[in-house]
Amino acid sequence: MIHKVGGIRLASPPRSRMSAEGFCTECRVEILSFTGLTKCPQCGTTGVPCSYQNQVTPSINWHELHLLCVWAERFGQSIQQAGLVYGIAQALEAQYPDRHKLTLAGEVNEVKKEYPGTQLFDGEGKEIQT
Ligand SMILES: [Zn+2]
Repeated sequence: MIHKVGGIRLASPPRSRMSAEGFCTECRVEILSFTGLTKCPQCGTTGVPCSYQNQVTPSINWHELHLLCVWAERFGQSIQQAGLVYGIAQALEAQYPDRHKLTLAGEVNEVKKEYPGTQLFDGEGKEIQT
């Protein structure tokens, strides 16, 4: 049995954390047991889920975190696996809603919200899709 955890705040565990084994790294759905798990029941990813036993609270500057996310996003896009990066970045952003977005896609979406109809292009003239 699973249930969705909205806006995971890693420093403050979700109510069901004591009974769940962990969560999907990509879609953040909480997984009560990893026993027999072959894929995420929510999004279908076969990536290794996160165990709550490995939860940590590191200290890092937001700009450093932004750099890591943008580089990871770039690599993730090159292998069609950016969803994993977006899942992690969105969980981090949810903990600090007053901060700017951690990924380029998140920043572009913010610009598009502020200026509807805006198109952004990369250095090769290709429109940046988010
Ligand atoms: Zn999932």
